[in-house]
Amino acid sequence: MLTAIVGINWGDEGKGRMVDLLSESYDIICRYQGGNNAGHTVINDKGKFILNLLPSGILRDNTVNIMGNGMVIDLEHLVGEMGRITEKGIRITPDNLKISNKAIICLPYHKLMDEMEEDRLADKKYGSTRRGIGPVYADKYMKKDIRMEDLFDEARLKERITDLVEWKNITVTGYGHEPVKAEDILAWLKQYGDVLKPYVTDVSAYLEAACEQGKNIMFEAQLGALRDIEFGIYPYTSSSTTLASYAPIGAGIPGKKIDQSIGIMKAYSTCVGEGPFTCEMFGDEAEALRAAGGEYGAATGRPRRVGPFDVPASKYGCKVQGANCIALTKLDVLSYLDKIPVCVAYDVDGVKTTEFPSGGALDRAKPVVEYVDGFGDVSKCRTWEELPENAKKYIQYIENATNCKIKYISVGAGREEYIEVK
Ligand code: GDP
Ligand code: MG
Repeated sequence: MLTAIVGINWGDEGKGRMVDLLSESYDIICRYQGGNNAGHTVINDKGKFILNLLPSGILRDNTVNIMGNGMVIDLEHLVGEMGRITEKGIRITPDNLKISNKAIICLPYHKLMDEMEEDRLADKKYGSTRRGIGPVYADKYMKKDIRMEDLFDEARLKERITDLVEWKNITVTGYGHEPVKAEDILAWLKQYGDVLKPYVTDVSAYLEAACEQGKNIMFEAQLGALRDIEFGIYPYTSSSTTLASYAPIGAGIPGKKIDQSIGIMKAYSTCVGEGPFTCEMFGDEAEALRAAGGEYGAATGRPRRVGPFDVPASKYGCKVQGANCIALTKLDVLSYLDKIPVCVAYDVDGVKTTEFPSGGALDRAKPVVEYVDGFGDVSKCRTWEELPENAKKYIQYIENATNCKIKYISVGAGREEYIEVK
């Protein structure tokens, strides 16, 4: 079984939490895109973890974790993250962590470029996480990056870095920054690369063999459908493909097809960073929801923008993710509301629609909000039958509006705090 676990919304839907739960029946967990701009929070019997680069399966014994070719890896960050996880008693070895030889390395100058450009844009900034993700993906498509396998040939690496630094300094100095030095980059690559080399391998060969043996493989996405570089809220997207259909490519088995796509969808909306967020709430109403949901970025600590459940955005998210079923998360967060707002449609230039627009139409879209009855505390519910009637109605409303079956309902951050809809 090849399963993708993907975000339906703007990210932070609780993918890490659901991968941690559902990975029990999987042998292999792969991250297939993105870098350390991700923040996946997992709370289980071993403690509380925030994962940026490592697949969430690292917290399970007997699970092999893959970092695929679609990823961009800041070596220094990864070494630090492995250290923090290991300190909490998690075992990480080349047996349970495998890094693709073709994965791209996110270099210190990518981070520098990201920071300089966001600063230059000032109030027109993209809301980047400033971790170099946009610049390193841009260089990937210009064929001016280096990959994990390049760490193994020092002479070749030195020549390549020297050339790349010469090219990069044309822009670095254009920003008024002093040139970066090839020897500094090479020293950084040696310092952190040497720690990681034992983990680098041909993960494609490993995954092909695993498929032959009928192993269960799960692909863990970062961010959500609306941050996809092509189908998201461009240009306020991430720089990679967050969609389920890219999972086999980014993981390393481009010839395979996924068997199912499980969409992780939040019971309300959140969005980190800039860009159109039609359903956004403001003032006290927003502050109350942000506080109830603890909506502060796991990777950056930034307060997340919040809003009600957004029908056009979520319906679109389910469609582009090809979601076969949905895990609805954070339902418990809405417990405090007597009346729950729902963004049922958008008003685009006076026309009401549930289709998700793009470009200027999305900028001009206004939310059409309706209220449904609140349902009180659901945090202790563990079966469908135990849910209050109004909670069932809310869930069924969402199913109808998005045209997708809800199979799991998460009512707390802990591993066991969920309902499986039979
Ligand atoms: P990800 O990036 O999609 O993995 O999500 P994040 O970890 O960034 O954000 C989700 C947050 O919600 C985390 O702090 C989780 O611990 C928490 N969480 C996940 N599911 C639930 C839930 O059902 N209820 C509550 N109250 N918190 C949840
Ligand atoms: Mg997150």
